[in-house]
Amino acid sequence: MKVTEHLDRAKNPLFSYEIVPPPRGRSVQDIIDIVEALGPVDPAWIDVTAHSSSAYYNERDDGTIERKIYKKRPGTIGICGIIQNRFKIDTVVHLLCLGFSKEETEDALLELNFLGIHNVLALRGDGPNYKKELSRNRSMNYHASDLVEQIKDLNAGKFLEEVEGGSKFDFCVGVAGYPEKHFEAPNLKLDLINLKRKVDAGADYVVTQMFFDNKHYFDFVRLAREQGITIPIIPGIKVLKSASQMVSVPKNFYIDFPDELVERITNDPKNVAHIGKEWATNQVQGLLEGGVPCVHFYIMNDTATIVDIVKKYQK
Ligand code: FAD
Repeated sequence: MKVTEHLDRAKNPLFSYEIVPPPRGRSVQDIIDIVEALGPVDPAWIDVTAHSSSAYYNERDDGTIERKIYKKRPGTIGICGIIQNRFKIDTVVHLLCLGFSKEETEDALLELNFLGIHNVLALRGDGPNYKKELSRNRSMNYHASDLVEQIKDLNAGKFLEEVEGGSKFDFCVGVAGYPEKHFEAPNLKLDLINLKRKVDAGADYVVTQMFFDNKHYFDFVRLAREQGITIPIIPGIKVLKSASQMVSVPKNFYIDFPDELVERITNDPKNVAHIGKEWATNQVQGLLEGGVPCVHFYIMNDTATIVDIVKKYQK
């Protein structure tokens, strides 16, 4: 079932979860363990993130550049196929623009359609590691709005090349939203104008970047509505586990921590797992009271705390 169908049919707010493919060398059992651990909290759907290889670049003596891959994760599509077909839980595949030609994207969507997966989160992706030379006669999506457009074209039966016997696709498309603005956007207003481009291209729902102050989310929803964005906006939540995340989370995700949270962690750094859980529980409570359709957890493959938080809200 599509994410939008889940949202339309839900009588109570839903909970969804986002997992990261394990690094190369690990096995599918990691995924099975995570999904089984999420069983008690009845996932409405599970997102699986997408990652291109992480590489570093060395300049050789002759001036040419050597690219060495140091981290690779198994494919998002295969993992979604396993979750959806073994556990009968709907999945959302994260698809990236950067690093993929439109032709490769079309092939990926063909595969997803074959596997019975009809939800994708259309993303641009990040970083120099994603840069790849385009072969001749290949084209690329540069912004998530371009990718949404490509998927919606395929939903209308418009393939890059005429396919004999090709039938239309039927994908539900989510996009990312940033309550504290995307790091490249000069301000939130322009970022919201760009979010509206994704919606106008056909996006069906928005999932937000994590935030630790619900006010950011509610202000963002209000401004998005003023911008004419009417599709569901699902809040994304992360539970803090360690004091080092006070540095890594703002650095990696370009978000702020509220003063009170910083003060609590600074005063009691050994107790961050407890503080983080209490903080996230209060956030969930506030979001549900504010009428959100769903809470999306970035679980980063650590399920126990999240299961504990969600259990008490499950009806
Ligand atoms: P875009 O919507 O293309 O926006 C990128 C920037 O360009 C913004 O500043 C925007 O304002 C601007 N912009 C947008 N459209 C236009 C336009 N048409 N013209 C000019 N400017 C424009 N990354 C991964 O690598 N793998 C993942 O699995 C992944 N999952 C994510 C899930 C969520 C919920 C979120 C919030 C982020 C995720 N990311 C993931 C990170 C994401 O790839 C980065 O944040 C990336 O920098 C931007 O992606 P986007 O889809 O928001 O890009």
